[in-house]
Amino acid sequence: MFGFLRQRRRASFLAANPVDDALWQTAIDLPLFIGLTAPERQRLREHAAWFLHTKTITPLHGLELNEQARVILAAQAVLPIMNLDFDAYDDWSEVVVYPGQFLSRDRYTDHIGLVHEYEQHLAGQARPEGPVLLSWLDVSQSPWLDGWNVVIHEFAHKLDMRNGDANGRPPLHAGMDASEWKTAFSQAYNQLVRLAEYNMYSPIDLYAAESPAECFAVFSEYFFETPHALVTHYPRIYEQLKLFYRQDPVKRLPAVRYRPAFEPLDLGPAIPTPVPGGWA
Ligand SMILES: [Zn+2]
Repeated sequence: MFGFLRQRRRASFLAANPVDDALWQTAIDLPLFIGLTAPERQRLREHAAWFLHTKTITPLHGLELNEQARVILAAQAVLPIMNLDFDAYDDWSEVVVYPGQFLSRDRYTDHIGLVHEYEQHLAGQARPEGPVLLSWLDVSQSPWLDGWNVVIHEFAHKLDMRNGDANGRPPLHAGMDASEWKTAFSQAYNQLVRLAEYNMYSPIDLYAAESPAECFAVFSEYFFETPHALVTHYPRIYEQLKLFYRQDPVKRLPAVRYRPAFEPLDLGPAIPTPVPGGWA
């Protein structure tokens, strides 16, 4: 009953508050969205409107995000859940955006109990306890079809975290075969670890060999950006992601890679994040 009322309230909000036509047109013209059908574009637009309504997007360190920038961020963020439930991101509420890559100070405890602190520059980070952190420079360079998309990467982590720590095994839909998911991903992951160990060529970014969680997030980037490469090299992974995201990007995207036709801007040194914490 409450679910039904919530759906009705959401539907009436969406009917009264669509994303502005001109802002939406600029976003949907980006390469990432090539080939979406009219009903898919409409669903994506509604998800984007709901995302903008329910998430706080906080720019930091002098960054200003205008409405167009927010729509471009939201459209990429909701592409993975376009055919899933509106509530797929409802367990967290904030996106923090830095001008460029940011310095993250984190710590971990090793197997004998020693605490290690370390720093790293990041383009994005999905914090288990809440926000997604993003570098705007990297967000703006993401919606190309080159297999690299920090927004899809971090939001894949968020989907993965819906059933606990990010481990490469998000909650699967009814009817999906958990053992097939495990076999497809563990075979690919073990192979990528070997390729990374021996510094060998890989058709997939070897950051995927960092952990099963990164493997799922990196494969998700390829699924939405260069699906032809993914289905050629890792057909079992493609099939599982097709079932999970309920999309078939091979059918809509060209079998080419688009790269940005501009040089990255120099936005100065990376800025430390204010709060240390885990990262994934
Ligand atoms: Zn990651």
